[in-house]
Amino acid sequence: TPMPEFVNEPLTDFSRPESRDAMQQAIDEVESQLGEDYPLVIGGRRIDTREMIISRNPADSAQVVGKVASATDDDVLNAIDAARDAFRLWAATEANYRAEYVELIADKMRERRFELAAWMVFECGKPWADADADVAEAIDFCNYYAGHMRTLAEPQQCDVPGEENTYFYKPRGVVAVIAPWNFPLAILTGMTAAAIVAGNTVIMKPAEQSSVIASKLMEIIEDVGIDRGVVNYLPGVGEDIGADLVGSPDIALIAFTGSQEVGLAINEQASVADDRQLSVKRVIAEMGGKNAIIVDEDADLDEAVVGVMHSAFGYSGQKCSACSRAIVHEAAYDDFLQRLVGATESLKIGKPTDPATAVGPVIDEEAQQRILETISEAKEEEIEVALECDLGDLAESGYYVPPTIFCDVDPDSTLAQEEIFGPVLAVIRAADIDEALEIANGTRYALTGGVFSRSPETLKRVRQRFDVGNLYLNRGITGAMVNRQPFGGFRMSGIGSKTGGPDYLQQFLLPVNVTENT
Ligand code: GLU
Repeated sequence: TPMPEFVNEPLTDFSRPESRDAMQQAIDEVESQLGEDYPLVIGGRRIDTREMIISRNPADSAQVVGKVASATDDDVLNAIDAARDAFRLWAATEANYRAEYVELIADKMRERRFELAAWMVFECGKPWADADADVAEAIDFCNYYAGHMRTLAEPQQCDVPGEENTYFYKPRGVVAVIAPWNFPLAILTGMTAAAIVAGNTVIMKPAEQSSVIASKLMEIIEDVGIDRGVVNYLPGVGEDIGADLVGSPDIALIAFTGSQEVGLAINEQASVADDRQLSVKRVIAEMGGKNAIIVDEDADLDEAVVGVMHSAFGYSGQKCSACSRAIVHEAAYDDFLQRLVGATESLKIGKPTDPATAVGPVIDEEAQQRILETISEAKEEEIEVALECDLGDLAESGYYVPPTIFCDVDPDSTLAQEEIFGPVLAVIRAADIDEALEIANGTRYALTGGVFSRSPETLKRVRQRFDVGNLYLNRGITGAMVNRQPFGGFRMSGIGSKTGGPDYLQQFLLPVNVTENT
């Protein structure tokens, strides 16, 4: 059966006054709701905990966005029990029934679009357009996986005289969804929607930093009337509850997006089989990148500058798809660098509540300190600074890091090898395209990559030889769209198939074949 027709949710055009007004109104409304309490939701019951996670506005750390319950080990056990109980009924429903529910989630998100975006502005420091795109992507994931599940629900028949064979899919069981804060709605929704539309039940463990937005998703899931226990909201501190969740014999699958360190730890823990466990756990882990854009000697430099700048500094570089290395052909190097510095200098750094802001803060103090340390270590190694933006007094109230460009960076240096997850770009010189490709491929990661070139010959060559999961020619390397650019990498960037693509949902399913002798 072919994949159903899919249409991406359009992005909001904030140059239109009505869109700006609607967003401003949502921001005011959400601001009046800051500081509330959010309980756990287990089997439909609200549970308060003694410990709380205090979620702060990264642009203004004195502002508390919400106080979120923090799950204990007992809560983990209860949530898994609730999910296991709910699995019996949910797994037996028709795929179409589940797909309709997931589409209702998308509809509700569309109704609450500006409000959800506003929560991301406050809780994660997302500029308007980034927050809006995050909601649109969450809607897309719901609609895409719902459509795909209907297709996968058609059994495949392979009959020969005297024998009928039926190939079909079953859900796996209880899924632990462990989500990041950088796409706090989109990625959490994507992993959760895929799991439940496939007939599994879910323990939703959001990142501590984005637990309030996650509770809005939980509210929507309850609102559309999905049975209790099918999704359980379990915010908490990863170090406290992560091991109990991943180690539980009742978890069939772990869907994780986040750092390489945590991803590898999950993979290792999940590989240990407990006597009580009935199946080998599957891990889907989307991890980091050290993504490069190659700028060829004949590249359109105006486009290359904008593409590199947005990919490097959009959402303060906090995307696993972000560009952290620009590898530039010697013949274009000086010109490119000069223009890139000029363009980056004029980026408006500010509070994400302000619609003019292009670059906001980083997520929290720990991130801020870590990135500032990376910058000072690079300086100590005498790597040349081409630009360090001026923050004014922003860093007094929020977790800001200056967008920083280093140049003539050694491709083997720590700066050019380790993921930074912040607004820091290493510009590297290459003698020719072959050397540029070798440098680009010379990390442990393989997530996104880009090439700006006007030569069809070069573009043809890099298609084959640039080792990344998502390659972009003559454009920026972030902002993959569901269905159009199924997203994900390989090597140390992750295990599992691409999100928003035709192989993703199968990971949440068990294929079964039944043969009848007739
Ligand atoms: N899908 C996002 C993009 O293409 C990145 C997702 C992530 O950072 O995990 O920009």
